[in-house]
Amino acid sequence: MTDICSLSLTALSRALQDREISAEEAVQACLGRIETTEPAIAALLHVGGEAALEQARQLDAAGPDPAKPLWGVPVTVKDALCTKDMPTTAGSRILEGFTPFYDAFAVKRLRDAGAIILGKANLDEFAMGSGTENSAYQKTRNPWDTSKVPGGSSGGSAASVAAGQCFASLGTDTGGSIRQPASFCGCVGLKPTYGRVSRYGLIAYGSSLDQIGPLTRSVEDCARVLSVIAGHDPRDNTSDPRPADAYHTSLDSLSGDAPLQGLRLGLPAEFFAEGLSSEVREVCDAAITTARSLGAEVVDISLPHTNAAIATYYIIAMAEASSNLARFDGVRYGRRAPDVKNLEDLYVLSRTQGFGQEVRRRIMLGAYVLSSGYYDAYYRKAAQVRRLIRDEYLQALDQCDLIFAPVSPVTAWPLGSHDQDPLQAYLKDAYTLSLNLAGLPGLSLPAGLGAESQMPVGIQLIGPSFAEAQLLAVGHALEEALPSLPQPRL
Ligand code: GLN
Repeated sequence: MTDICSLSLTALSRALQDREISAEEAVQACLGRIETTEPAIAALLHVGGEAALEQARQLDAAGPDPAKPLWGVPVTVKDALCTKDMPTTAGSRILEGFTPFYDAFAVKRLRDAGAIILGKANLDEFAMGSGTENSAYQKTRNPWDTSKVPGGSSGGSAASVAAGQCFASLGTDTGGSIRQPASFCGCVGLKPTYGRVSRYGLIAYGSSLDQIGPLTRSVEDCARVLSVIAGHDPRDNTSDPRPADAYHTSLDSLSGDAPLQGLRLGLPAEFFAEGLSSEVREVCDAAITTARSLGAEVVDISLPHTNAAIATYYIIAMAEASSNLARFDGVRYGRRAPDVKNLEDLYVLSRTQGFGQEVRRRIMLGAYVLSSGYYDAYYRKAAQVRRLIRDEYLQALDQCDLIFAPVSPVTAWPLGSHDQDPLQAYLKDAYTLSLNLAGLPGLSLPAGLGAESQMPVGIQLIGPSFAEAQLLAVGHALEEALPSLPQPRL
């Protein structure tokens, strides 16, 4: 019998619709895989095994439904997304014991499409981090090498997909949190255009930057999930009204010997400068050669404000975080400090005990950059530079169709190696966070293993707003030609 967990979502879905595999068998296979791999990787904060089996049995009894594109497909969801019947913690003690009474829009879309939510994936507390080491509950490990981080903040999602615990996961990306863990774990990850996927029911980090997107084992799988979760939602006033495409149906629009003929791929000089490790550079160079061999024309472009992006991002993200996290006060949801004497104590103790160190640091820095006297020097300035960065991207995208970039300057690092110096982790976001500032979509896909570390390396394609169909089609053509990674040995 085939190993169900090694199938792609696309292959599983076909087998489910043809009744070669039942939904219950698919869920059983995933639960078995979770049982054997969780002790090593700790990707999940909650597994709803019985509920998932029950749902699968109901689906099987009713029979496959071609109108439900993810019928019977087991998935996991980052624990920053509200789920009606499951605890939702955002990786924080302050939300311990919170079970929402509604589903996030993207979760509801998955369920309506017939997907089965197996469990909630671990993350850095409130999605603040790059290694899933800032979770208040557990540190997730990379399925390729359990002494290393899976990336973050959607590290639980990436690890669960890479380890075969599920067929897709939803992550969130504020400054790289889908693309970077996808790169570290050898998965595909897409950060859609700002406004493409509703943020309703997402526990906010930086509201002007946050986007929800899929992590999967192939570009086609990614396109299928995006087709389900994208689209207008009146409950998110930044949700874009234009209808979503059926992204998976246009993947073969680029075919033949030279599928990328006529495509201009821009290489930003600033992304291939100092700081890029030689093993990541080598994989990128090989991928560029592959793109050329498929017919793409490579053009040099420049994004001169790249070196200001990290400072700009962290000012804006922390300012928005300090404002978004003000609602966690021990009164309305989650954990409340015991034995408090008065209201002031209730706030101070609940927040001090409930938030971890990194979250406290960001709330304080965010409050500082928004405070009177500093607002103009920091926050307003950052907002101005953000506009420059966006304009620069738009100009660059006049000279090329898509931008080609690394995802991270390095491969996954050893657990604990950034504990003493969080700035080192911030600096490694250089290639991902500028496109969140600009609101543009970015696709990360595996391109090989680093020669030195033998860990996965991802490449990134960046497109104009709402160019997801093109990003996915080009990603799909590249994926077919790039070396395919083996399964991680767990
Ligand atoms: N590493 C970045 C941060 O810590 C990005 C996180 C994210 O995209 N959620 O803010």
